[in-house]
Amino acid sequence: MKKLFFLIMLVLSKLTYADNVILMIGDGMGANHLKCADKTKPVYILSLPVKGTVHTYSADAKVTDSAASATAYSCGQKTNNHFLGKLPNKENCLTIAEEAVKHDIPVGIYSTDHPTGATPSAFYAHTSDRHNKKKIEQQKKEASQHMDIIVPTEKISDIVLMKLKNLSEKANGKGFFAMFEGAKIDTNSHAQNFKQMKDELYDFDLAVMQATQFVYDNPSTTLIVLADHETGGLTDECQYTTGGHTGVDIPVHAYGKYAQLFEGEQDNTEIYHKMHKILFQ
Ligand SMILES: [Zn+2]
Repeated sequence: MKKLFFLIMLVLSKLTYADNVILMIGDGMGANHLKCADKTKPVYILSLPVKGTVHTYSADAKVTDSAASATAYSCGQKTNNHFLGKLPNKENCLTIAEEAVKHDIPVGIYSTDHPTGATPSAFYAHTSDRHNKKKIEQQKKEASQHMDIIVPTEKISDIVLMKLKNLSEKANGKGFFAMFEGAKIDTNSHAQNFKQMKDELYDFDLAVMQATQFVYDNPSTTLIVLADHETGGLTDECQYTTGGHTGVDIPVHAYGKYAQLFEGEQDNTEIYHKMHKILFQ
């Protein structure tokens, strides 16, 4: 019922003005990453008003990689591990970022990942091999003509407010789509380096806090904070149990105009469909 109410609100609001979507992805950031980091220093993300969970499995595996999970967010469909912007039948999918460009809606993609990292690439690249650096570099160069892409950036917290302000000015009331990724929560979890992982998480958390400030000042904005999958099998006792990814559900936190849409249990593909409704319907 509550969801229906928000969907009706969504339709009505589209008659007047456009909305911004800010998607913030803490790569590998499971529920225990947040809880364990919170034991040392309060994690702001945990105080966001709307909470839900997300299933992350890919089309061909119970445990996803960042390519398939980011494609679920960018295209709204399950695909195979290692695929970026492509469906299991190897057809290209139109990403939410590419669709925004078609609608003349400004797009910003920012990540601390290496230049051809899977999560940012899923928004503008199309390849069945996430390690095909040459192809991804070329597609990134082409996409850069229409999107603001900074991969890698040193720290998300250094750029988030400036970038949101720039996108907002460029949008001039038309709405914008921004994706920020904190990639090294994953990298440090693969290495089972708990202390370094926490430092990365705190920086990502600071960036989220800054983004909520923007949402507060720009009420036609929805902020979604989630992971693509869990990395390290972090236990309640804050011990890593694997150097790889796991298939557990990950938490989503949201704030802003349509935050309620992200409450409760959902599939990763639904995140796309909800963002799509906010941006284009
Ligand atoms: Zn990983």
